[in-house]
Amino acid sequence: MLDRSAIKKSNNPYSLLLEPIKIGPVTAPNRFYQTPFTSGAGFWRPKTRTAFREVRAEGGWGVVNTGYCSIHPSSDPTPMPYSRLWSDQDVAEMAQMVDAIHKHGSLAGVELWHGGEKTRNRYTREASLSPSGLMHVTNDLRQLHSFASREMRREDIRQLLSWQKAAAKRAVMAGFDIVYVYAGMGFLPFQFLLDRMNTRTDEYGGTLENRTRLLREMLEVTKEAVEGRCAVALRFSVDEGMGSEGFQADTDAREVVRLLSDLPDLWDVKLGGHGFNDCPSSRFMETGYQEDFVKIVKQETNRPVVGVGWFTSPDTMVSQIRRGVIDLVGAARATIADPFLPKKVLEGNTEDIRECIGCNICFSTWVEGTPVRCTQNPTAGEEWRQGWHPERIKPSVSDSTVLIVGGGPAGLEAAVWLGKRGYSVTLAEAGKELGGRAALESRLPGLSSWSRIVDWRIGQLHKLPNVEIYLDSTLSADQIQDFGFAHVALATGALWDTLLPGSNGITDLIPPAMTVPVNDILHGALPQGRIAIYDFDCYYLGSVIAELFLRAGRDVEFITPASEISPWARTNNDHYLVQKRLISLGLQTAFNHSVILKNDTYLLKETYSGKERALDCDAFVVVGRRTVPNTGRTMLEQLQDSKVLKSVTAIGDCDTPGMIAHAIYSGRKFAETFDGGADSTNRFEPWTS
Ligand code: ADP
Ligand code: SF4
Repeated sequence: MLDRSAIKKSNNPYSLLLEPIKIGPVTAPNRFYQTPFTSGAGFWRPKTRTAFREVRAEGGWGVVNTGYCSIHPSSDPTPMPYSRLWSDQDVAEMAQMVDAIHKHGSLAGVELWHGGEKTRNRYTREASLSPSGLMHVTNDLRQLHSFASREMRREDIRQLLSWQKAAAKRAVMAGFDIVYVYAGMGFLPFQFLLDRMNTRTDEYGGTLENRTRLLREMLEVTKEAVEGRCAVALRFSVDEGMGSEGFQADTDAREVVRLLSDLPDLWDVKLGGHGFNDCPSSRFMETGYQEDFVKIVKQETNRPVVGVGWFTSPDTMVSQIRRGVIDLVGAARATIADPFLPKKVLEGNTEDIRECIGCNICFSTWVEGTPVRCTQNPTAGEEWRQGWHPERIKPSVSDSTVLIVGGGPAGLEAAVWLGKRGYSVTLAEAGKELGGRAALESRLPGLSSWSRIVDWRIGQLHKLPNVEIYLDSTLSADQIQDFGFAHVALATGALWDTLLPGSNGITDLIPPAMTVPVNDILHGALPQGRIAIYDFDCYYLGSVIAELFLRAGRDVEFITPASEISPWARTNNDHYLVQKRLISLGLQTAFNHSVILKNDTYLLKETYSGKERALDCDAFVVVGRRTVPNTGRTMLEQLQDSKVLKSVTAIGDCDTPGMIAHAIYSGRKFAETFDGGADSTNRFEPWTS
């Protein structure tokens, strides 16, 4: 629990954030509010879910919420992970989570939710419900369905209210302090608010007042159900980011807030409509970016308002409160990257905050159906499975010495946590700076906040007298063995290669003379003339490099076997924004094309028609595969045969090339398991306990 008495309020510039806030019948101990977001664990991984939420409460978040919690089988987003309160049987596991949150003095909230026509009910096979039988137009696989939704009959509306009421009663049974009605992100009560989705002619359609009726009734039944024991919060999307074609903050939302005003005990507000408005990556937004939209809410209600906007710095948080934009600081990503952000703010250790970089890996892993993973915080989602903690690690069990070769994300992470365990660590880096690919990529357009990966780790290393760092130190296998360290971690990374995929997978085709390796581009090379980028990596880097060239005024053709730019961005919420930005910058695209070698000439081949044409460019960039260079492989083999080393371990990209999140996880895992550190806590739900 946050020890408020230990905090010198007068000296702390952020003491405003420490103030308790009354929310209806309950009181939040401070203004740090973990808004509802999914843990990716769902009701089928309850221990993972509980441990994930508990550590956020332990870190000082005054309110900790669940992610979306379905009130009825007709709101079933399978295969996405979700919580549910469909029957009394669902209460016990929720209660365990509530108890874990309460243990640390925080309030527990539950985001009751009905998705309406946005859920496809693949598991329950119930009909999708909507105000008028209309569907969002989508090509998103998660949303596609060959069924229409059912226009809600009067009986359906009556049922919906009874499901909300029953779920709210179960929430009370589970011990929650805050119970939600959710009218955002295109979900059911929000669909009623939209005139393009709601064409009803009864008292639930027509004027905005009529379209707000269902929401009012949902709030009323929730209040009846909780009987004053819990606060009732309304989560509301104030703007769809579609201008006059959609729901707008200053007109529609303002009117809804006026109509409902003090009915909810708390307004939890944000953007909505399309996910990319609400939670784009830092490539497409800045801290506090929702302010212009959410600020209208406090102008129309006396109830406390919580707002979000990629807050990571306490200065921005305090500024929005002082200027009357919000009362409570809502956060999702900041709580994932640093569950202990509130404690650090309140105890005056703000330099230790592990700031979110805004990469949206967390979002992408939820979309992929796994517990939340985080680039900055590899313990996210591992609190129960591996018993990892974002701030603590078991102490050393011997006086072993460790040499880490390579100061990229993996090497830095391993050094920080081995150092915190108390081992004597030496880190040698070939380059003149630390950070490896994270430092290089943070210089590309839109990725500047990625430098936080390096900054946080360097900041921690500077506090560890038992870690020595040597730059400009390229080590060979012979040198490594001569130094006398007992243990070695090779974190020497991987490099982008310039090979092309052949008909049987990757083949060693010799790239054309005008090929410019990605590694050179990361070090500042900027080719002249017309540039062709061949992206079969399909993650983010191809599009980022395209943006770099376009902004430098180059003529760029983007060739990819995919049918869009960066298909991976569908998982991290950037898909729409990536296409929009690059196409508006003038990118030429050749989707569904491969580059092939025929009679010593490089050709573009269309996937479906087989049509071929010449590769027309002055410079050719292949963004395809990262491989461990031969030097790294040979060094590992030599060291594995060493008679003087007790152990040698490849970590990060040098072990398996992946995303930065994978490298950091690998570095932490090495530190956790080093020297007999237990791997035995590694357990899985639901088949072991
Ligand atoms: P990862 O993501 O696995 O940390 P990176 O490629 O980002 O991998 O970082 C690897 C780091 O290792 C780079 O900073 C690189 O300069 C460094 N490095 C590579 N080979 C050596 C070596 N032989 N000696 C010391 N440092 C090395
Ligand atoms: Fe932030 Fe990236 Fe971690 Fe998500 S994965 S919390 S965006 S650092």
